[in-house]
Parts: sequence; structure tokens; C-alpha cells
Amino acid sequence: MIKAIFFDLDDTLLWDQKSVKEAFAATCRAAQQKYGIDPEALEEAVRKEARELYSSYETYSFTQMIGINPFEGMWGNFLDDDDNFRKMKGIVPAYRQEAWTRGLQAMGIEDPEFGYELAERFPAERRNNPFVYEETFKVLDELKGKYQLLLLTNGSPDLQNTKLEITPEIAPYFDHIVISGAFGRGKPDPSIFEHALTLMSLHKDEVIMVGDNLMTDILGASRVGMKSVWINRHNKERNEVVPDYEIKHLEELYSILESLKKE
Ligand SMILES: [Mg+2]
Repeated sequence: MIKAIFFDLDDTLLWDQKSVKEAFAATCRAAQQKYGIDPEALEEAVRKEARELYSSYETYSFTQMIGINPFEGMWGNFLDDDDNFRKMKGIVPAYRQEAWTRGLQAMGIEDPEFGYELAERFPAERRNNPFVYEETFKVLDELKGKYQLLLLTNGSPDLQNTKLEITPEIAPYFDHIVISGAFGRGKPDPSIFEHALTLMSLHKDEVIMVGDNLMTDILGASRVGMKSVWINRHNKERNEVVPDYEIKHLEELYSILESLKKE
């Protein structure tokens, strides 16, 4: 008997990838206006430089364990009370400027000051572009009251809470919000799933995990023996991690939950 649903946040309820894409597009248009360069080529160059730089910092293994990607590093403030987050807070200003400056260089433009301007602009554009999937609130409205709801998200508490502040309709649906950076370990570590179960005083058989990431949401759920639903909106190939259910749209959850009532 399913009593609670654990939802992932980014790219499950919030359309983070689109928000990041739009922030890049708006920021790169500023470079197009100044230098006439192709904004999409600049975006690709900056993404590449960002990934490389991000993996070169001493905080990289921490960001991987907690689950903070290079593009979150491009706009998060990381004002968290923790030594690793303090390190990140110290690193990100130079990281951003360097990623944008190197991206410009890859386009043949030598202008670190403008790199800095773009680096400062990107976080504002990301904040201004919070996208939510069209069905998110409809589905939460339908499930709220019938099931207990817990948000299980990887990331910096400061940044994940910022996302929840700029889309304030989401948080009130949830009985609990668990953020990996506050707990100390991220999905797919079984301990964060166990922690979430303890918060709800529920057994693994009473919960189903819904998320878009096979290697965090689905792998972690399977490690603790919890049922899982993989939301695969973009026809991604499956790997060795096997979800119990695969859907393309969150409204497909209703029939899965109905069928589980009969078990
Ligand atoms: Mg996700």
C-alpha cells in the first residue's frame, strides 16, 4: 500500500534544463550584440569550458557526492553553513568569470572584463527564467491529500531553496523537503532515502520515488528496495539501472498508483 510519494525536483517538477538554456540564450545574445558572434556557438563553448573548469577544483568530488552540476555552479551563491560550501562560495566567482572568458576566447575574443559582465549577468537571467512543466501543479493538486508528499532533491540548500523561492507554489505541497547538502550525502546514497523514510515514519514498501535521473533517483530507490518511476520525457536510452515504471508525462502516475492499490 503506497502512502507517500517522493519527488525529485530538478527536471521532474521544475524544468531546470530549460531555465538554464534560456539563461544562456539571453546572456549569449548580449555577446552577439557586442561582438556579432553566434550565440549558440558561444553557449556551447562556455558549457564546455565550465565543465572542464568545474571538474578541476578541489570541491569537485564533494559536488558530485551532493549532486551539484557545473551550471548550478554558474549561478548559485552557496551561502551554506558548511566548510565545503564555503570553499565553493570562494571558488565560484573566478570559476564563472573564467568559464565565460574562455568561452569568448574560443570564439576568438579576448575580453576578460566582458567575460566578467556575462558571468554576472547569467545568474540574473537564470533567476528570471524559472520554468515549471505544464502538468506539475495539476499533478500535485491531484495527489495532495491522497498521499504524503516528500521532496528529495540533490544540491546546495541555499540554491535549492532559491529555486523554491522563485517558484513559491511548489514547497507548500510537501510534508517534508530533504536537500542532500543539508543531510550530508546525495542520491543515490541509500542513507538519504533511509533518512527520508524515517522522517515520514514509513517503510520502503509504502513509498514510491519519482525522478528523471536513473543514476540518482532510480538507482538510489532500488538500493533501498523502494519502488521507482522514471520520468523520461526526452526518450533517453535506459542503462543498466531498471526502474519499476517508466513514464513520459507525470499524469501517467495516476494509473500506476491505481494499479498499486490492488496489490
Ligand atoms: Mg532531477
